[in-house]
Amino acid sequence: MKNYLADCHLHTNFSFDTNTDILDYCRRAREIHLDEICITDHFDLDMRKGMKKILDLDENLKAIMDAGLAFPDLKVSKGIEAGITPHTAERMQEMLASRDYDYIVCSQHLVDGMDIFFERNFFNVGRASSYARFLEVQYELLRDYDFWSAVGHMGYFTRYFPSADRKLRLSDAPDIIDAILKTTAVRGKAMEVNTAGFTETGDMLPPFQIIKRFRMLGGEIITVGSDCHGPAKLFDRIPLALALIQKAGFSYYATYSGLKPGFHKIG
Ligand SMILES: [Zn+2]
Ligand SMILES: [Zn+2]
Repeated sequence: MKNYLADCHLHTNFSFDTNTDILDYCRRAREIHLDEICITDHFDLDMRKGMKKILDLDENLKAIMDAGLAFPDLKVSKGIEAGITPHTAERMQEMLASRDYDYIVCSQHLVDGMDIFFERNFFNVGRASSYARFLEVQYELLRDYDFWSAVGHMGYFTRYFPSADRKLRLSDAPDIIDAILKTTAVRGKAMEVNTAGFTETGDMLPPFQIIKRFRMLGGEIITVGSDCHGPAKLFDRIPLALALIQKAGFSYYATYSGLKPGFHKIG
């Protein structure tokens, strides 16, 4: 039997950082024989640099459903990348709970009001302090809110650390990393494996070592996404990531429908 092929992290022209039409992804997905794509446009309630407006959730959901109707042999899932921050999480939770999502990936792009993509000064306090601070805020958000399906690109900030040796290691913040992994495992949530990390860090986000640790701490659900902003990168390095996920002790990965995981055999 053919393996189930999915990419569950991609951005369309509803995101402020790409002009890609959703139908371009559907066409590309069919070309490379994917079974499922999950659209996860940026939903931020803080205006991030480059954003012109807050995402219209209903318009976005309608575009996803229309794409699904136009491509009946491809599953086009209704996802969202919720850019969580301490002062917007509550409102975000209310807005998402009243709508019909398949998958909510909870990502942290900001720390202490700074968008890490633009504000590299955050790293001036050094690797240990900056890494620990980012993870600490992420942990508190994941602990305090429950509306998410998966932790998005854990270790995202490391992509921008100003040194070639930037990959997140367990030893960078062992207690906080364990707390994130345990919270995710105990609550039956997923850890997303995001393949965009390979470019800058040479590994997945989170890295192999942390995925392995997640398994050891009882983690059972893994999702996969390329975080692509254009069709050329759709499904980029997901086969490589799946091989590493399997090596870390997982036999299955998951995709979501109606916020519930469905499992697919790896390999
Ligand atoms: Zn993101
Ligand atoms: Zn993304």
